[in-house]
Amino acid sequence: MGKPTGFLEFERAVPQKDAAADRKQNYQEFVHSFSDEQLNNQAARCMNCGIPFCHSGCPLGNVIPEFNDAVYDGNWEEAYAILSSTNNFPEFTGRICPAPCESACVLGINKNPVAIEEIEKHIIEIAFKKGFVQPNKSYLKTGKRVAVVGSGPAGLAAAAQLNKAGHDVVVYERDDKVGGLLRYGIPDFKLDKSVIDRRIEVMEQSGVEFRTNSEVGKNVPTEELDSYDAIVLAGGSTIPRNLNIPGRELKGVHYAMEFLKQQNKRVGNSAIETEEIHAKDKNVLVIGGGDTGSDCVGTSNRHGAKSVTQFELMPTPPTARTEAMPWPSYPMLLKTTTSHEEGCQRHWSISTKEFLGDADGNLRAARVVDLEWETDALGRPVSFKEVEGSERELPCELVTLAMGFLHPQHEGLLQQLGIKLTDRGNIDATETEFQTNKANVFTAGDMRRGQSLVVWAISEGRECARKVDEYLMGTSVLESKEAVM
Ligand code: FAD
Repeated sequence: MGKPTGFLEFERAVPQKDAAADRKQNYQEFVHSFSDEQLNNQAARCMNCGIPFCHSGCPLGNVIPEFNDAVYDGNWEEAYAILSSTNNFPEFTGRICPAPCESACVLGINKNPVAIEEIEKHIIEIAFKKGFVQPNKSYLKTGKRVAVVGSGPAGLAAAAQLNKAGHDVVVYERDDKVGGLLRYGIPDFKLDKSVIDRRIEVMEQSGVEFRTNSEVGKNVPTEELDSYDAIVLAGGSTIPRNLNIPGRELKGVHYAMEFLKQQNKRVGNSAIETEEIHAKDKNVLVIGGGDTGSDCVGTSNRHGAKSVTQFELMPTPPTARTEAMPWPSYPMLLKTTTSHEEGCQRHWSISTKEFLGDADGNLRAARVVDLEWETDALGRPVSFKEVEGSERELPCELVTLAMGFLHPQHEGLLQQLGIKLTDRGNIDATETEFQTNKANVFTAGDMRRGQSLVVWAISEGRECARKVDEYLMGTSVLESKEAVM
């Protein structure tokens, strides 16, 4: 333990950010770095708990007190070795993870938790600068070939681990660039795409082959997969939830991903093949209160929207401990994101009943109504009714639907391979085995668990790779997260 009294001496701090008015002028990341002293103080707050709940709070099982200790001692190489032993891509999670480890931090019971996510980001950025991040070449080759379909965080983690185990790995990606939602969902101001490119370069040098513009089941025949010993399906949960109300067909009503993907392509100088969607000088209505909705808010403000309003059907989340939520809710439920800080009218408990258009079929307004929620004995919302007399029109010329995703795409690859699905339409495979109804076909990430988080995708990619390795070799050389839990 670096400093036994650190948690008594230092308060939690996070690095400064550019002012909201400044950062809205561009698409760059805006969070500054800690000074050495600030970082040292933050690492010193870790209490090295006898039972480190943060280990199991983190889906990757990150060994957090140990890397905090190394940071406190200024031992960067060791900090990086500890962190990278459980997490292939701390540069992603250190930027965009909602940090369930911090919700599990014992210090959070009566103080603010250790700034674990920021410490993680600093370790990996320093590791890249100091040259600790080197290609992971496997000189002992197994002679086995594995195809990974999808290059989001789940596919990338599976590929990195399988390559490390000595298999020849080819990653197929239907988009023009690698990264999945890291590349074409999450905006550049949260995750600069050079961070992905830097990692892909290391993976290529390690021996992983990437084939972009390659949609298996479409322009790459599914039969091509027959030449591999094992297959990992990591295609994500890509079918968005629709809002089937009158006026859905009007010009100006779009799925959030149509809007966000275009902007990421613009910033990345990739070709945009669909009709341009732009928020400049428009009243924008974002429907859906999660991460995707928040990214639409930040992007609309950067476009120069006239106004940005965000609707959430559910009531305002609790900010204090309740019987239903006895654990401190910070920071998971206080979802005021950096995009909200940049300007947005937020409404909870509100429903959109109709989109209204002009004579040319262009969106001009939404007809909305307030909701009153009924709660159960524990204060959990269970049903709602409309508030009489609250129906009104909200002028808007652009709507983005950010109401989550239903399941992976079934047409093409999954149907052609005859993959069994769950009742919810995800791939049917357990969280411990990752194996589908086809013995040599495995799956990881949102395609298996449904829409989730980057940290879960990386965790599933790693665990799935171990199961593939066991399937191919009888036993696996890859680490299990159970070992650190
Ligand atoms: P994806 O990232 O969806 O990658 C799947 C890839 O497979 C895609 O590139 C797709 O093109 C490719 N593919 C699919 N089918 C084929 C095929 N047949 N052939 C070839 N390629 C194929 N999580 C967080 O933790 N923090 C956040 O801040 C956050 N923000 C988000 C913002 C948005 C807008 C969205 C939509 C999600 C966000 N998430 C966030 C969730 C997170 O991005 C996902 O949980 C995660 O990316 C899932 O990873 P994955 O690898 O399973 O799938």
